[in-house]
Amino acid sequence: MNHDNVKVQAIIDTDLEKLLAQSNQLDDFIEGKIICPVCGTVITEDNIGILYPIEHSGKIIFEMHCNNSNCLSK
Ligand SMILES: [Zn+2]
Repeated sequence: MNHDNVKVQAIIDTDLEKLLAQSNQLDDFIEGKIICPVCGTVITEDNIGILYPIEHSGKIIFEMHCNNSNCLSK
């Protein structure tokens, strides 16, 4: 495990769960239904890299990319 993973884990423990609950994505995340739109990998606590808030039908939801360096920059 490197420092980046530790940092991401800390974010998940505090804010991510609340954010995803608010956007109604927490169940999908837990069930492995959130997929990186760049590479198609299932997003988990172990590989989540970045969140992009996007407006969808008047609500804010999060597009999640995995921590592959290719995907983080997209
Ligand atoms: Zn990816």
